[in-house]
Amino acid sequence: MEESLEIAIVGGGIAGISLALGLHTRNINVKVYERGKSLREIGAGIGFTSNAERAMLALDPRIYHAFKKVAAQNASDWYYWVDASDYSGDGMNGNGLSEDLIHKMDLGPRGFEGCHRAAFLDEIVKLLPVERVVFDKGLVDIVDGENSGKLVLKFSDGTVERADAVIGCDGIRSRVRQLILGEDNPASYPSYTHKYAFRGLVPMEKAKEIFSYKKAFSRHIHIGYDAHAVTFPVAGGTLLNVVAFVTDTNPWPFKEKLTAPGTKSEAVAAFSKFHPTFRAIIHLLPEELSKWAVFDMKDHPAPTYSRGCIAVCGDAAHASSPYHGAGAGFAIEDALVLAELFENAAGKKRGDRARMVRAVLESYSEVRLERTQWLVEGSRFMGEMYEWQHGRDRERCRDEIEWRSRRIWDFDVGKMVVDAVGVFEGKLDQLNGVH
Ligand SMILES: Cc1cc2nc3c(=O)[nH]c(=O)nc-3n(C[C@H](O)[C@H](O)[C@H](O)COP(=O)(O)OP(=O)(O)OC[C@H]3O[C@@H](n4cnc5c(N)ncnc54)[C@H](O)[C@@H]3O)c2cc1C
Repeated sequence: MEESLEIAIVGGGIAGISLALGLHTRNINVKVYERGKSLREIGAGIGFTSNAERAMLALDPRIYHAFKKVAAQNASDWYYWVDASDYSGDGMNGNGLSEDLIHKMDLGPRGFEGCHRAAFLDEIVKLLPVERVVFDKGLVDIVDGENSGKLVLKFSDGTVERADAVIGCDGIRSRVRQLILGEDNPASYPSYTHKYAFRGLVPMEKAKEIFSYKKAFSRHIHIGYDAHAVTFPVAGGTLLNVVAFVTDTNPWPFKEKLTAPGTKSEAVAAFSKFHPTFRAIIHLLPEELSKWAVFDMKDHPAPTYSRGCIAVCGDAAHASSPYHGAGAGFAIEDALVLAELFENAAGKKRGDRARMVRAVLESYSEVRLERTQWLVEGSRFMGEMYEWQHGRDRERCRDEIEWRSRRIWDFDVGKMVVDAVGVFEGKLDQLNGVH
């Protein structure tokens, strides 16, 4: 296309900043509009699986290197699932000091490492020229720009901006998703999964007094009845990240907020039937904790991720519960498809701009829908499995972990891009009347 494409990204989380970098690296004009006064990732941990690392390398290798710079190295390249449901001292856990191993998987060299979310986001945003990210811009509406052929973004401060395409990376409560699907559509809103998590960081020096060195410095899932937890090292190994999930039969009491104040004594009560080793870790959490509601898009999945020249990416498209630790990684896969398709479109010499953008976004949606919605559904299921809500069946649990993890981790991101470009070329041929 003769004139350079202008892409507006709404939201400066991991999806928005990664996509902006991927587009900027491909010489595509991009601007991020973020509602906050600064980038605000919370001080919790996040890990990236091997598919996500390959997507980072293909999107912009600097994203991968930024992640590795802030990632805490695991003590071993294995991922462990342990049965923490036995607390009764009936001998099942031997000497009572270690939880029984259910399964372990090889992550490969330096696989599935964790980092502080804010540290990662700080590193990647530094790679973008400062003028590419604008703060204090909460999107409220998108309308057609009539004669300009562009979309007009309207912000809560009364200002407007124009772009050829708008990509909503505005998270689980996406305004852009509402604008694509309609405010009356249930698929515009996430649902409460009836689980919430206590999240906290424990000083590693203290954690090592309870966990063995290998356990403290390796990724573990502790499985039990109606609760489970994930532990892994962050902050260069100085902190143990603890995400402790519990089942909640009540409705989530807040309409807008996804977090609520909680206390250590609530967490202690929720894990009171867990193995003593794990209970000791819960006792190390700070007195005041936050509860994080787990919402997802499983009950009402979006039938499409695009309409016209508008699309959604990351949690805005397919927010998942976190039991596979893959939501942000899938956002980076999304970003890779979008960046590659826009680069492809920008290289075309002829064709109507808006139709070209529509073809890009439709191709993206078609290629990403199945895998991302499978994750949303599968993750919800694994959350139940990790809390023995399908029976305490270790063998089944092992099988489910194995095939689902392989499907996530071993994904061929290169083939995904080739497939997406093939779909896009097919749409262009249709537009140009080629059969
Ligand atoms: C407990 C937990 C643990 C997790 N662990 C992992 C893990 O280990 N690995 C992994 O890959 N994933 C994990 N995830 C999932 C991961 O956190 C998300 O998938 C990812 O952060 C989504 O990024 P995002 O950029 O799409 O959305 P967000 O991070 O929500 O960013 C959205 C941005 O948009 C902005 N915004 C919102 N509305 C507007 C508006 N109207 N106008 C302008 N800006 C707006 C917000 O301020 C925000 O900055 C976990 C999730 C949870 C809940």
